[in-house]
Amino acid sequence: MRNQGEPPEKDPAHFSGFLCDLCNSAFAYHELRQCILCGRWACQSCWTPEFYVCNSCNGMITLHTLGDKSTK
Ligand SMILES: [Zn+2]
Ligand SMILES: [Zn+2]
Repeated sequence: MRNQGEPPEKDPAHFSGFLCDLCNSAFAYHELRQCILCGRWACQSCWTPEFYVCNSCNGMITLHTLGDKSTK
């Protein structure tokens, strides 16, 4: 869990790199987005622009949405 507004983790191996919290690869700051649910920083391939969340939270949203539909 990360707080909103907290900066992404700096990659010690790359001077100007920041780490994606999901795949742990180094990216430039502007390539990362902070998830509105868990506060983790995600790169483009770990990010779901549709919901402004990381792919991990998107999986939970999708499950929840599908669950709601199936119980009705
Ligand atoms: Zn990533
Ligand atoms: Zn998330």
